[in-house]
Amino acid sequence: MALPRWLSRATGRPGTVSLKRFARTVKRADHLGAEIGELDDAALAERIRTTVTGTGKGFAADDAAAEFLAIAREAMDRAIELRPYEEQLLAVCALLSGIAVELDTGEGKTLVAAMAAAGHVVAGRTVHVLSVNDYLAQRDSEWMGPFFELLDIGHGWIGQETPHDKRRETYRCAVVHAPVSEIGFDVLRDRFATSDDDRVLPVFDAVVVDEADAVMIDEAMTPLVLAGTSDDSGQEFVAATALVTDLVEYDHFDVDPERLNVALTDAGLDLVEHELGVDNLYAEANLPTLTKINLALHARVLVHRDVDYLVVDDTVKLINTARGRVAEKQRWPDGLHAAIEAKEGVASSAPGRMLDSITIQDLLVSYDTLAGMSGTILPVAEELLEFYEITSGRVERHRPNRRVDEPPQVFLTTEAKIDAVIEEVMARHEDGQPVLIGTQSVAESEDLGEALEAEGLPVQVLNARNDAGEAAVIAAAGEYGAITISTQMSGRGTDIKLGGADAKPGDAAHKEVVGLGGLAVMSTGRYPSSRLDAQLRGRAGRQGDPGTSMAFDALDSELVRANAAEHQLVRIEQDGQHLTPGQALAILDSVQAISEGLRGDRHRATWAYHRAITQQRTAVLERRERIIDSDEALEPVLERVADWRAEHEEDAEEAVRTIVRQATLHFLDEAWTDHLAGLQELRDGIHLRALAGQNPEQEFHLEALRRFEGFFGGAQDAAVEFLAALGADEIAAGLEDLATRRPSSTWTYMISDNPLGSAADRGTRKLGRLWRSKVLRAE
Ligand code: ADP
Ligand code: MG
Repeated sequence: MALPRWLSRATGRPGTVSLKRFARTVKRADHLGAEIGELDDAALAERIRTTVTGTGKGFAADDAAAEFLAIAREAMDRAIELRPYEEQLLAVCALLSGIAVELDTGEGKTLVAAMAAAGHVVAGRTVHVLSVNDYLAQRDSEWMGPFFELLDIGHGWIGQETPHDKRRETYRCAVVHAPVSEIGFDVLRDRFATSDDDRVLPVFDAVVVDEADAVMIDEAMTPLVLAGTSDDSGQEFVAATALVTDLVEYDHFDVDPERLNVALTDAGLDLVEHELGVDNLYAEANLPTLTKINLALHARVLVHRDVDYLVVDDTVKLINTARGRVAEKQRWPDGLHAAIEAKEGVASSAPGRMLDSITIQDLLVSYDTLAGMSGTILPVAEELLEFYEITSGRVERHRPNRRVDEPPQVFLTTEAKIDAVIEEVMARHEDGQPVLIGTQSVAESEDLGEALEAEGLPVQVLNARNDAGEAAVIAAAGEYGAITISTQMSGRGTDIKLGGADAKPGDAAHKEVVGLGGLAVMSTGRYPSSRLDAQLRGRAGRQGDPGTSMAFDALDSELVRANAAEHQLVRIEQDGQHLTPGQALAILDSVQAISEGLRGDRHRATWAYHRAITQQRTAVLERRERIIDSDEALEPVLERVADWRAEHEEDAEEAVRTIVRQATLHFLDEAWTDHLAGLQELRDGIHLRALAGQNPEQEFHLEALRRFEGFFGGAQDAAVEFLAALGADEIAAGLEDLATRRPSSTWTYMISDNPLGSAADRGTRKLGRLWRSKVLRAE
């Protein structure tokens, strides 16, 4: 079979490559199909191990590679009863070469990831296939299980509930499916283990990241945190919250046009100072109070209930605004989180003590060969190159896209937009055509759901549920007459089959919906990035199905308000009715581009801050490793406690080593935790330094370096002091003491995108102005 057309295309954009170079190999694999088809299962498993010489940058598209592809394809056909298309094989080649692949929704990326994993394994490597949640990790592992088993490849999956021993065992498998957060949490927990047995040891060799743009770009800077119990109580925000409650916008505080930052005006500052009875809130001694007031104001003005978070059972639950669903186990940075709890009057959930943290980007760059896939890769190709040093390429669909994208409709107001959406839904529903509506927020989806229900329509509102439940609802979204309202990315990774979850191509239910034009997808407004819009559209017209996409938008949307230039806002206000559709769209394009640019800047800025910490962490971890693995690393401490040692060693050389090792580890960990807490504080307050005209990022780096000087010496001193104080028969008691000093329990969570992050820079300018005006007034 000849290749029907070019499977890939070069786009000429920075960071992109053409995948044409693999086309010959794929064609060869196709020719080998008949011969390979003759082999029995055992022979397939044996033969595949003779095929590939290397993967990663050294992967060559040659005869061995062609044979590998032919065998993997045959094995997939037999085990899963789906015969991979040539497009899928081409994508496999790209992944094995460490290239990120754009392949549209519904083109079978699950099979591609599994075949690529097999390719790495036969080259002698260990592979992680990373997904965005437990549900998908389990689904993909179980779905692809028979394929791996046929080829005699060990595999397993890990989720939140997987117990310690099972994790350890699973990480020994050649292929591990897991959500990226679980791998990160295991890394963090391993770092605090005091013996080899306590570690689960994920292997960082080759990785295939599913939904790669979401994980590698959108969530790259999300810190995964390991925390432990501590005696520190949560910060007190009740007073600060009360102070800001009655402040009035424009009079007492201003919000910047992007609505990312809020700052007290001079009048507001006077009022607060008066109520607190202080002269100058900007005095060094008052900075902690000022920080609290700023956070309380931020929580009140910029963070919205039912948009940014929900209050459930008296706890604050974050909504991941990119995914539009509750982000379990996520917190904002401590101060802001406590401020929001105070605003809602719920009990403060003391965050405990942060023991360590790692960003998703840090985690991913520790793999030797990194590659990923998504329906929207090319728009982030440049960033993937910048942050991960990988290139990207696109693989075309197997069947041509038959989806019709109708021209966007832009309205002046949200009300007008919602009316149009409701009208459109009713018209489509009358025939029975299934409709999927993507909204901006949980609140919006609930409002729209109620409005449609009031019209007597059967609606499924999908938000903030568990992943498996969401998947089931989304899977049914293609049924005759279904109306499904979803926030961005809920039920991601789930296939929408026309006619319903169990419909097969060609049966009556499928044909009926095909006859109605397939799934109609509607967006009720642009997302902050055009990639998210594309992901929503991609829900319709999968695998050559018919389908329609429609986009409704309003010029009073949050995206416009937050990102439009002054003159654009004026124009909308004064001359809105006279804007042509083209002009209205141009405004939307430009505000979305601004929002995308801001995200990129934020990524860069946060990464720069993290770099210093990452280097220091690496040094600490290397030291830690040596202490666990070798007796030699204990020598410096042993030398310093020579006298003490002489008293003990006769009876128990081994016991002495154990306590020296445990003490050294303990005080190293403690020093690191203290250091991190110090850096966090520094980071929170660093923008205030800009008041003195300093560059905050540079200041942070210098200060972080300065504080790290003498780090190892200090940790060692503490260990020596502890040991020297132990009496002759107190070794056992000493070990116990060390054990109780460690947190009695640990837990993990993610910190949501720091809303104060890069905004701090903008805030800095504002604060600077404020400060100057204050000084001038004082003079
Ligand atoms: P993606 O992750 O790219 O959106 P999935 O891996 O979830 O796609 O697969 C989407 C659907 O396509 C699944 O229902 C799967 O059974 C089907 N599929 C995948 N590959 C093939 C193939 N080679 N032939 C037929 N169906 C396929
Ligand atoms: Mg998928």
